[in-house]
Amino acid sequence: MENCIFCKIANKEIPSNIVYEDENTVAFKDLNPQAPVHVLVIPKKHYSSLNEIDDKNIAGSLLLAAKQTAQKLGITDYRTVINTGKEAGQEVFHIHLHILAGRPLKWPPG
Ligand code: AMP
Ligand code: ZN
Repeated sequence: MENCIFCKIANKEIPSNIVYEDENTVAFKDLNPQAPVHVLVIPKKHYSSLNEIDDKNIAGSLLLAAKQTAQKLGITDYRTVINTGKEAGQEVFHIHLHILAGRPLKWPPG
């Protein structure tokens, strides 16, 4: 998808700090980390949000990539978040799963 920053990261058209990659997904460090570990997992294929996901293989790949990324980073305790829609805090409209770790995380989030 043209002009999508996360498609550009997935296609290696712009630099990012990739920490995990497989056939369907890429995980890279968030530019503005909200915790000592803050990584975003995205599908290589463009879906604007969870509302657009229609492929079980992609849905499953995202979650398994989150687990693989956590293992690779050596973390066992972490939060995974998918913001869907503006009111939920979504700012980039290429679905991404946040992995946050390395500090105590409050629940419920604000
Ligand atoms: P969300 O608010 O759920 O849409 O999250 C978007 C996230 O993308 C934010 O945490 C941003 O800091 C992060 N972000 C935006 N642009 C980049 C980029 N070029 N590289 C890494 N992270 C980014
Ligand atoms: Zn995209």
